[in-house]
Amino acid sequence: MPNAAPQPADLVHAMPDPALVVDAQGVVRLANEQAVELLEADPAGRHLSATLRAPDVLEAVTATASGAGSASVDYEIRVPVPRAFRAHVSCLGDGKGALITLRDLTREQQIERMRADFVANASHELRTPLTALSGFLETIQGPAKSDPKAQDKFLGLMKSQAERMRRLIDDLLSLSRIEMNEHVRPSGEVDLNQVSAHVRDVLLGLAREFECKLTLESDGPVVVTGSRDELVQVLQNLAENALKYGSTGKLVEIILRRNGEWAELSVRDHGPGIAEQHIPRLTERFYRVNVQDSRSRGGTGLGLAIVKHIINRHRGRLVITSELGKGSTFMMRLPVKAT
Ligand code: ADP
Repeated sequence: MPNAAPQPADLVHAMPDPALVVDAQGVVRLANEQAVELLEADPAGRHLSATLRAPDVLEAVTATASGAGSASVDYEIRVPVPRAFRAHVSCLGDGKGALITLRDLTREQQIERMRADFVANASHELRTPLTALSGFLETIQGPAKSDPKAQDKFLGLMKSQAERMRRLIDDLLSLSRIEMNEHVRPSGEVDLNQVSAHVRDVLLGLAREFECKLTLESDGPVVVTGSRDELVQVLQNLAENALKYGSTGKLVEIILRRNGEWAELSVRDHGPGIAEQHIPRLTERFYRVNVQDSRSRGGTGLGLAIVKHIINRHRGRLVITSELGKGSTFMMRLPVKAT
């Protein structure tokens, strides 16, 4: 027996996006599962205006039903959460109503906004030291032209601004390289105990500058799958932050533990801590609790964004806990390498 031909309703149900069929009077005749889920009720049998609060879409449906060609209309909903959609309205034939398909644009728009924000932020961050550099140059060429002592001072300031630009560009490049490879899991074998000892040794000088003790507590080797250089970068960023922002606590601890199938590498400081509302945003690019404070300590606002991307690439997690007045702990959890 030949297979039965698909019915129009089957086609609507098979569509991947929310889809509705309305008759010439604007009453919904059919809605696929995605549309029912989106509208949080089956709209079949009700007038479109009762289920879709988007006057522009209703207008397009009326126009299409009375002979205008198909149309695309963007609209937004505010509740329960803000979302953006594109409704495509196509005529089903003279007097037969219209097919409405809905495409969720929320994620696309968010990404677009993030990209625009990122470019604006990066440009602003680069322009600040550049403006300072131009100012110092003008001073050297003008008021300080024949004052070698002042020139020396301004050249020193220029050097530190140029270094800040270099750090920023290095961090931007690091971030873009890691993001590009985020979906590829690194395959090396890394002992976090060695990584910890290496970072502690590298940062002992900085700890001395901050008059802060830097300790390492570890039960021994803990091997994970990963990139050594990147994991060194994670720990170094976290420990540098702990020294930069938490050195008033006089002690920064690197602690490595194995907890079942997880390796837990923490950096704990006993500094001022971070207010709760900032914690979920710390890994956003350029987010700082205090912009001036970060800049004066040579921060770029990208350190924790880099940390998060590296940890994601390693299929791990970053757990941040903090208490105002007591200090903060940044813990990286990575799956232990199966033996
Ligand atoms: P930055 O280059 O500004 O240090 P990060 O991305 O490394 O950028 O950190 C973002 C912000 O998180 C910092 O500006 C600082 O406000 C806050 N922060 C990070 N680590 C600590 C810490 N250990 N104690 C207090 N605040 C911290």
